[in-house]
Amino acid sequence: SAWFNEYDERLCLPQEAIEAKPPQRKASAAFVMLVRNKEQDAMLGSIRNLESRFNKNFNYPYVFLNDEPFTDDFKVAMQAAAPRAQMEFGLIPVAHWSYPPWVNQTYAAERRAWMKSEWVLYGDSESYRHMCRFNSGFFFRHHLLESYDWYWRVEPGVQFYCDITYDPFLFMEKHHKSYGFVITLVEIPQTIPSLWQTVLDYAQSREIDISTKTADGVENNNRLLFPYFMDSNGGYNRCHFWSNFEIASLKLWRDARYIDFFDYLDRTGNFFYERWGDAPVHSLAAGLFLDTDEIHYFEDIAYQHDWYRHCPSEESKLGCRCNCPVGDDDKSLDFDPTPDSCLFMWRDWVKKSSKGKT
Ligand code: GDP
Ligand code: MN
Repeated sequence: SAWFNEYDERLCLPQEAIEAKPPQRKASAAFVMLVRNKEQDAMLGSIRNLESRFNKNFNYPYVFLNDEPFTDDFKVAMQAAAPRAQMEFGLIPVAHWSYPPWVNQTYAAERRAWMKSEWVLYGDSESYRHMCRFNSGFFFRHHLLESYDWYWRVEPGVQFYCDITYDPFLFMEKHHKSYGFVITLVEIPQTIPSLWQTVLDYAQSREIDISTKTADGVENNNRLLFPYFMDSNGGYNRCHFWSNFEIASLKLWRDARYIDFFDYLDRTGNFFYERWGDAPVHSLAAGLFLDTDEIHYFEDIAYQHDWYRHCPSEESKLGCRCNCPVGDDDKSLDFDPTPDSCLFMWRDWVKKSSKGKT
């Protein structure tokens, strides 16, 4: 049947069926890995896992990026883990991983010291801030990604516990999606004290309509994602999509509107004075520029990053040959039911926002 060769719908196919009729068509897409040489073993783990759960059937290329040159040892090890896959190893230009001239580095150091005293995760790390700024504003401009339309971000040490026997890029393309996530959660407040106000100022200065009600108090029927991030007082509920997993459009970030947004944020210096993460930055940008329909929750993808995990529930029947850990160790805990998860709010928002839909 038609679907069989297309792989653009969520299906759980037997391996023999895929081998009998392998995918005929690919999206213009690549895995993107920002990683350090010292994370070699953890990166190998991610690649082996991804190959066996997905890419052995789809053979998408890998693009590795680093602010320092990759060692030969690193490159050889990566290629050995996926011998068939095309792999490219890129150095990040200094301009994309350094202080812009308007940032006061003395003040930045004072703010880091304050954040350390608050026990904020990576509060005193300079490199973490360069990383967040790079992932916010620059990775999609790297020349090794120029020829692609889509990316799947993969970090070292992550795990996928179910088979993925369809092509998520083709799925996104077919359904007019731009941004896909697996976990949505609340941000640490001390890292983003002024982000929300900056985004509101930006929206106002660019005349982006983020209102949830029309002037006469009627529910606004615009399909914009933005209100998902708004609490009942018009503040930021701190929900965002966790960006260590992303399957998304590169065009979304290359768009002049996003570049303008990033530049506006960057001018404040708060990637350094505060510790703005690429996750809330990407999420709020998606809020400004995308309709809710353009966001896709990959509920079927079982994913673990550090202590946080999502596995598709039994009831959902979305899992494909899953091997999610069961037991009472830390890695067996599902993040979705915890208070830091925004999944409940996400589900409510999708229901609410689809009401006005025709
Ligand atoms: P966390 O997920 O927020 O705990 O942060 P990570 O330490 O996992 O960093 C996020 C991603 O950026 C991972 O893919 C790291 O390998 C990568 N990363 C973080 N810092 C650096 C850095 O200084 N250099 C390079 N090349 N990659 C980095
Ligand atoms: Mn990580």
